[in-house]
Amino acid sequence: MAEPKVFIKTYGCQMNELDSEFILGDLLARGFRRAENESEADVVLLNTCCVREMPERKAFGKMGLLGEMKRDNPNLILGLCGCMAQKRKETLFKQMPFLDIVCGPSQIGQLAEMVVSVQRTRTRQIRIEEDAAGRLDFRKASRRSAIKAFVSIMHGCDNYCSYCVVPYVRGREQSRPPEQILAEIEDLAGRGYKEVTLLGQNVNSYGKGFAASYDLVDLLEQVNQIPGIERIRFVTSHPKDISLRLMEAMARLEKVCEHLHFPLQSGADRILQLMNRGYALADYVRLVDALRAVMPDIALGTDIIVGFPTETEEDFRDTLEAMRRIEYDSAFIFKYSTREGTAAARLPDDVPPEKKKERNQELLELQEEISLRRNRRWIGQEVEVLVEGPSKRNPDKMMGRTRQNHIAVFDGGTELAGSLARVTVVRATALTLFGELAQRGDASPGRALAHRRRQLRPMRRTYNPK
Ligand code: SAH
Ligand code: SF4
Repeated sequence: MAEPKVFIKTYGCQMNELDSEFILGDLLARGFRRAENESEADVVLLNTCCVREMPERKAFGKMGLLGEMKRDNPNLILGLCGCMAQKRKETLFKQMPFLDIVCGPSQIGQLAEMVVSVQRTRTRQIRIEEDAAGRLDFRKASRRSAIKAFVSIMHGCDNYCSYCVVPYVRGREQSRPPEQILAEIEDLAGRGYKEVTLLGQNVNSYGKGFAASYDLVDLLEQVNQIPGIERIRFVTSHPKDISLRLMEAMARLEKVCEHLHFPLQSGADRILQLMNRGYALADYVRLVDALRAVMPDIALGTDIIVGFPTETEEDFRDTLEAMRRIEYDSAFIFKYSTREGTAAARLPDDVPPEKKKERNQELLELQEEISLRRNRRWIGQEVEVLVEGPSKRNPDKMMGRTRQNHIAVFDGGTELAGSLARVTVVRATALTLFGELAQRGDASPGRALAHRRRQLRPMRRTYNPK
């Protein structure tokens, strides 16, 4: 009999993407094969997210369609894992009687076994206890990219931002031991990986709870020394926990990229307080100024929620104004959705959907204008691009990312994939830099960095909030 085929669909964050790579690797090691799509699969797993209503609704819709497919193919095994599984537990079996597996995010190490059990016994499987996902060996992961990899450095979150369900479904914050992380990255480097992104819900508090003092800066310093790794990123940073020591390390360590995802969430202090974010706009702005002072060419990204309970027109204007003044390179804008069990769920969800949509649109338009302006600054500059492969939209060109995480598309051959190319930017849109190859081959990131820092004019640094 041919080996069974598995298809995994992932919703939500990078952590989920990494978990899916782990699950797939574990199943491949047990003789499964990867299916190109769900219709040729014997096992379909949805790795779900419940941070907002939309991804949750999408996963429900998808599972409904898969349930219909199962009518024609009763042997099809269907599993739902990730945050929705943790949140809804066995009620999922009632809502979706065709479902075979429910598996929480801390239990994915057992998911392959659960699939095998369903195959053998045709009985439903559920695992939702909170457990130490930290023991997973991510070296098993079947990774999508051969060039850049996500590396989990911590699980869970203790911050309890009032809108957020993550602490309830991903459990208490727990840092993985540095030895495990470093071994994983050394293994990746040995297999030719050039870039790692360290993942956690709040990486700035990495190491909290360790017996010996060891934090994100210590970890970055050690990763920076691993030969073969050329670029280091980390996500997500919480403004209340970022230190000057970290900013200084980012500037000093040549492999750490000049890019920071630094979610503001709202520009109104009253809303920030209701969100339990632990900072006011002025504190946040001081941090942005400090970041730009040590790294003039740093690219900043943010997350913003519009329509948080009680958000007035004036609060929203404060957010607009903050975005205009801070000038992010990129921004994700989300419409608030109530998450059951969170503190904000006790507040009235009183901003009408139409208003949320309007505010969302207004911020998107503003950000597009700002991104375009910021991207145009790079025209005429030489940038370092980690080449990923042919551009999807334009396959006779190559694409990659700059250190600031901009997408760069340029003329070049496929032999450049996996190398660091020097590209001169000739044109820019809000999402992409277009360029020409300046010089072939691997550049030294350290030298390139020093070169670029000298060349680039600092952006406006100061912002005085009202
Ligand atoms: N730990 C990360 C990621 C959290 S989830 C962080 O703190 O940034 C990613 C984003 O989803 C959040 O930054 C927030 O902007 C958004 N989000 C979370 N809960 C939400 C909700 N209930 N409604 C709308 N957006 C939400
Ligand atoms: Fe959610 Fe806040 Fe934790 Fe991010 S830091 S996961 S937004 S509770």
